[in-house]
Parts: sequence; C-alpha cells; structure tokens
Amino acid sequence: MNQTDKQRVAIVTGASRGIGAEIARRLAREGFALAVNYASSAKEADALVAELRETGGAAISVKADVASADDVRRMFETVEAQLGPVYALVNNAGVMKTTPLADTSDALYDQTFDINVRGTFNTLREAASRMKNGGRIVNFSSTALALNLPGYAIYNATKAAVESFTHVFAKELRGRGITVNAVAPGPVATSLFLEGKTDEQTATFSKMPPLERLGQPDDIAAVVAFLVSADAGWVNGQVLRANGGIA
Ligand code: NAP
Repeated sequence: MNQTDKQRVAIVTGASRGIGAEIARRLAREGFALAVNYASSAKEADALVAELRETGGAAISVKADVASADDVRRMFETVEAQLGPVYALVNNAGVMKTTPLADTSDALYDQTFDINVRGTFNTLREAASRMKNGGRIVNFSSTALALNLPGYAIYNATKAAVESFTHVFAKELRGRGITVNAVAPGPVATSLFLEGKTDEQTATFSKMPPLERLGQPDDIAAVVAFLVSADAGWVNGQVLRANGGIA
C-alpha cells in the first residue's frame, strides 16, 4: 500500500475502466491515496492499483456494487481501515443503455436506476456520517440531460436525480465544510458511449461540440481534479458541464 500519513484519501467509484480509471490516475498524481472501486472488472482494477503503486502512491482496489447499501458500507469500512478517513468521494460509477422509453424493459429501468441513482444515494448517505469536515464530493451527471435526445429518457431521468441530490446535499452538509458538486460530461470516448454506435453515429456526435471532437477521459479527470482541489473551495452545489461547448 505504501501508505503515508500525509496522503488524503479518495474513493473513485467505477474506477476499473473509462473515465473513473483516468480520474484515479489523475488524483494519484495530485497526491491522493486511491480506493479504486469496481463491480466486476477485478483484473482491470488490480492492474490499475499496481500501476498507481509503481509511482509510489497508496492504492487499493475495492469490490463493491454501489447499488448495494451493504457493499457500500463495507467499502467505506475497508477504505478507512486500509487507507484512512475519506476526504474525497467521486461518484463516477454509472451505466447507460439508450432505448426508446416505450421499448424499455423493467429490468433495464431497474438496473439503470439502481446503479446511477441508488448507487449515488448509497455512497452519499454513507459519506454523510463518515467524512470529516472539509471534504469534497463529486457526483456524475451528463450533458445528455441538456440535449433531450430520443432514447435517453431513462438515463437522463437518473442523472436528473443525481443533480437534485447534488443541490440538496450541498445544503444539508451546511457547517461541515464539505463541498458537493457534479460534473456533467458530454460524449466521452469510453465503452459506455461507443458501444452499440456505428462509426457514422460516433462521427456525428464528435462534430456536435464547437471544439469538434469527442471528450477524452482525461478531459473529465482534469475537471474532477479541480473540484477536489483547494482552488475549488468556493464552488459548492454546482453542476459543471464539461463537453467542448455542445450545450
Ligand atoms: P464505462 O467506461 O462504462 O465505465 C463504467 C465504470 O463503472 C466501470 O469501471 C464499471 O466497473 C463501473 N460500474 C458499473 N456498474 C457498477 C456498479 N454497480 N458498482 C460499481 N461500479 C460499477 O463508463 P464511463 O464512460 O467511464 O462513465 C463514467 C461516468 O460518466 C458514468 O456515471 C456515466 O454516466 C458518466 N458519463 C459518461 C459519458 C460518456 O460519454 N462516456 C458522458 C456523460 C456522463 P465494472 O466493469 O467493474 O462493472
């Protein structure tokens, strides 16, 4: 683990792949001790932890389905025992399958709400009693919420809930010095976005922002690094869209 007392501890949910993995790399470079959460990609999470430790930082992987309150409680217990009290919680874990509302199965509805909404709820509730004063929470919304494209009804509804949690929870933590913000990325080149799209569809999305490209995971990791930094101390209860200007 290479734990040092000086390192602040960050949990990044869904950090085995995609945006979460890049956030973990970036926060490790910023000096954080990292808890790399995953649900099923153990190999990827362990490889990332090995990579982070190579550069001298403390890092552990923690398996937990964020949709399970018991898993989330155990995750916090493990992180506190192995790394110390949590300073930054990044609620990145999420799923997206686009389909017209009329064709959405009960199972897809439940899975999307369980991971994106209940998952964020579970970690926020646990964080409320465990985080010390002066911490940072970053939730994950999506710019999809502003675009209202067909097929996104269920996914957007989950992200609307996450934005509501963000605004209200920031106020409920009054007096604790903990900021609660959300990042709302536009299209980012990860499997969540790319899977199931034709090259033509991907090209269309990449032309939508005035900066004329897809976001990359490190574009989003940089925003999260800012929100957990001392410089963002006066930013609270906000949703920050990072999307190349798409909306
Ligand atoms: P991704 O590449 O599909 O990665 C998703 C991550 O979430 C994986 O590490 C996965 O781990 C984890 N995960 C899934 N279900 C989980 C669960 N129940 N418990 C714990 N971890 C779980 O997705 P991404 O593109 O990086 O997306 C990250 C976040 O950004 C999501 O909240 C997404 O909604 C948001 N976002 C993405 C885009 C985009 O275009 N990519 C745009 C806007 C917002 P396992 O493999 O171990 O399950």
